[in-house]
Amino acid sequence: MKNYNPESRKAEEFINDGEILETIRYAEENSRNIPLIDSILEKARPRMTEGGVHCAGLTHREASVLLACDIPEKVEEMYRLAEQIKQAFYGNRIVMFAPLYLSNYCVNGCVYCPYHLRNRHIPRIKLSQDDIRREVIALQDMGHKRLAIEAGEDPVNNPIEYILECIETIYSIRHKNGAIRRVNVNIAATTVENYRKLKDAGIGTYILFQETYHRQSYLELHPTGPKHDYDYHTEAMDRAMEGGIDDVGLGVLFGLEKYKYEFAGLLMHAEHLEAVHGVGPHTISVPRVKHADDIDPDVFDNSLSDDVFEKIIACIRIAVPYTGMIISTRESREVRERVLHLGVSQISGASRTTVGGYAEEERPHDSEQFDVSDQRTLDEVVRWLMQLGCIPSFCTACYREGRTGDRFMSLCKSGQIQNCCHPNALMTLAEYLIDYAGEDTKDMGFALIERELEKIPRDKTRVIARQHIKDIMESNRRDFRF
Ligand code: SF4
Ligand code: SF4
Repeated sequence: MKNYNPESRKAEEFINDGEILETIRYAEENSRNIPLIDSILEKARPRMTEGGVHCAGLTHREASVLLACDIPEKVEEMYRLAEQIKQAFYGNRIVMFAPLYLSNYCVNGCVYCPYHLRNRHIPRIKLSQDDIRREVIALQDMGHKRLAIEAGEDPVNNPIEYILECIETIYSIRHKNGAIRRVNVNIAATTVENYRKLKDAGIGTYILFQETYHRQSYLELHPTGPKHDYDYHTEAMDRAMEGGIDDVGLGVLFGLEKYKYEFAGLLMHAEHLEAVHGVGPHTISVPRVKHADDIDPDVFDNSLSDDVFEKIIACIRIAVPYTGMIISTRESREVRERVLHLGVSQISGASRTTVGGYAEEERPHDSEQFDVSDQRTLDEVVRWLMQLGCIPSFCTACYREGRTGDRFMSLCKSGQIQNCCHPNALMTLAEYLIDYAGEDTKDMGFALIERELEKIPRDKTRVIARQHIKDIMESNRRDFRF
């Protein structure tokens, strides 16, 4: 396609409208082409190699054919394959995190978000460092170890210095046996220099949702403010990587535009990062437009059914097997239950999307960014995951061991990361159970740990993990990791 170039640094060339439209046309044309669909599924299957399990992944065109296909047996096959890939690389582990809203001051005009500048009836709140201390203690008291901080774009109220100060405060708080060990950051597109400052502050992943890859819709949905600049926003991940951040998280807000367009755009963005920087995205998030103050999701006529949502998740898992996938409490327990086994590797639990919502339990939901569908406590979510046969993990080891970017990806691609993830999940779950869990959760959790310890293939690793878990149970020693 004219001007399409995944290696280009120009948004219009790596997210090329012509290529996306041609991909959608090709996918529709081949949506019932069984030999082609079979060959795509075959290519994506996990294979045993000398270095471990390997998956080839798919191009955006191949994955789009799967997404377009509605032959029931083939769709079933896709789900089985997604599950197989998820098992091969992520096992039954689900990493837990919580969002922390720092400030809802924002100068942008995003029409789907209640924090848009013209919303005059939402209370504007910015957390002080003391407020943050209270929020973080409340989060630590729940058992969280991994946060994603969020703030609107406002150079006066939320400048980079404020974000950096917040990160420092968060990392500095030690309350009982608690600690926040990884802070991921979701703030507006910024400069290489600012990304370098974030890197130096020790952030985990830099997350920025594209919202929509469709340029015209993007311009209409972001009518005012710096975010109106499609190119600056779309090229943000390149600047982040230039600034030294090698773990970046992509995402679109499904429901704003036609999902087939977004799906192809998302995968093209991942291909671009791989082509230019040698590392694909660390995570992909799959939020859907939800109700909030001043926002009615029904005005966006591209909303997705749960069935389509499920298929998108399966197809992403098949296309980019090494990329973590995140689902938030925007989704109900029922939806989360349907998609967990298809490839989701991280979920949020007990989230408050209100600024200051953790310390102030009784805080009205008047400053929420979106309605939370899944309102359960973290303990309930942990128990529910275990009932579903998953291991809730509070692991943050990689970034702290310097396993980021291509170092992380090479371990991930060889399947060796499993040797760390599995025992780390068990040790961090043991910490959670001892320090924060209710009695029922504790009983269920230790029984699960006992069963899972037996599955660790290397004798040496099993013995060390068992000893660390014993130490956690019998002392205040924490933070063991492989
Ligand atoms: S989506 Fe982000 S940038 Fe847009 S109005 Fe909301 S907080 Fe501001
Ligand atoms: S070992 Fe690394 S990849 Fe595995 S769960 Fe922990 S932080 Fe994630």
